[in-house]
Amino acid sequence: MDTQMLIGSKFESGTEAAETILNPRNGETIMELAEASQGQIDTAVAAARKAFATWSRTTPAQRAGYLLKIAERIEADAQAFAALEALNCGKPINAVLNDEIPAIVDCYRFFAGAVRALPGVVAGEYMPGHTSMIRRDPIGVVASIAPWNYPLMMMAWKLAPALAGGNTIVFKPSEQTPLTALKLARVLAEILPEGVFNLVLGRGESVGNALINHPGVAMISITGDIATGKKVLQAAAKSVKRTHLELGGKAPVVVFDDADLDAVVRGLRAFGYYNAGQDCTAACRIYAGSKVYDRLVADLTAAVATIRYGEADDTRNEIGPLISRRQRDRVASFVERAAELKHIEITTGGKPANGSGFFYQPTVVAGARQEDEIVRREVFGPVVSVTRFSDVDQAVAWANDSDYGLASSVWTRDVGRAMACAARLQYGCTWINTHFMLVNEMPHGGLKQSGYGKDMSLYALEDYTAVRHVMVAH
Ligand code: NAD
Repeated sequence: MDTQMLIGSKFESGTEAAETILNPRNGETIMELAEASQGQIDTAVAAARKAFATWSRTTPAQRAGYLLKIAERIEADAQAFAALEALNCGKPINAVLNDEIPAIVDCYRFFAGAVRALPGVVAGEYMPGHTSMIRRDPIGVVASIAPWNYPLMMMAWKLAPALAGGNTIVFKPSEQTPLTALKLARVLAEILPEGVFNLVLGRGESVGNALINHPGVAMISITGDIATGKKVLQAAAKSVKRTHLELGGKAPVVVFDDADLDAVVRGLRAFGYYNAGQDCTAACRIYAGSKVYDRLVADLTAAVATIRYGEADDTRNEIGPLISRRQRDRVASFVERAAELKHIEITTGGKPANGSGFFYQPTVVAGARQEDEIVRREVFGPVVSVTRFSDVDQAVAWANDSDYGLASSVWTRDVGRAMACAARLQYGCTWINTHFMLVNEMPHGGLKQSGYGKDMSLYALEDYTAVRHVMVAH
């Protein structure tokens, strides 16, 4: 297993305190990994700055060539990448192999193509005797900081547009899930010129903090908690760094009385619980019309009770455990507090699963009210709440009454109602009669405290490049 950071052209181990990497399926230690020192972080940033001078002047076609090679190598070694991700996160290997790896490979391929075809304002004479043109130029060294829920995919979302845009990178994976980043670093070192990609390991408050405050870093791209995003903004304010923030979510799902209820239940079973609900777009906050509410709760409860997890034959598992004991205890405490309320009924699940792993039972919390904590806060576990609404205005008002603004969905057979409702929702994405579907051509990113900046799509390339105006007098 690869264990060393990549600093410039050198692979080296950290010299500071070690972090224990656990197998979430059984709580056993996989390995200990020491974090980077300030000196190692400085060297990584210096290497990225040095590499920027030449990397930023490569052509889009050259950078596309590098990205295509990265995609090819991940695809060729998909089984090993998937096995490592499954080990570190506890995910069912088939979910990684069949869902995540193809999306990751496609992300590098998408940006390889996109950077060669960036659209823009037409150059021309907007003042007599002067020709204006727009350039999109690289920004510099990007500090990329990733969370633990989709380690290799978040790495792709951050690396592909940043590299395509001509930037160089110092990447820090989550201290809990560095294994696939360590493996990919070996591949990147073979493909990319020295210093273009650097990998440092460590905790947020030490290594992450050093990176976001580093004077050599021009942009910070982070996916994580709102509290972490706020710290990034404070750090960025000191030197006015560019920031790209993908923070949490609490996706509302509005189910109208005329919805295809079987499709809704199938959708919620899949998209409310995928990755054990550790997903910022998880369909976790259901608002059901009064006529469908009872049947929805009954059918969803029955469907969720059949979700398979924790089986010895991993090919049968649909979801894995939570990432850590701490995260499982956090999820459990949300559900315990909800269960104490008289109007709430836990119709299935509601407890940590037996065994030494960090599994939590897939759970439905029925009868939740808008003001309840379980409706308002991000649980990040396999827990879905259901709330009854009386009319469309109430549903939209409740859906929008949230600090978060990442993803949402509307379920109805009436196209007009769907479009009218989607237009009023204050979310970066609204799905109609589905949820959770992402494509590399379309943007993913939030409003409100879910952050700003887009992953995937041409909009990500815009975020990782600076618009410049060049004017020629003649
Ligand atoms: P986290 O904020 O604890 O950590 C995310 C990353 O930030 C980690 O690498 C961590 O080490 C680093 N970090 C923490 N404190 C830091 C600091 N002070 N300075 C610099 N770096 C710091 O989040 P997490 O628990 O790893 O991930 C779960 C969160 O991520 C959830 O809130 C989830 O919704 C969010 N998320 C959002 C998206 C999205 O696209 N919007 C996608 C995935 C996850």
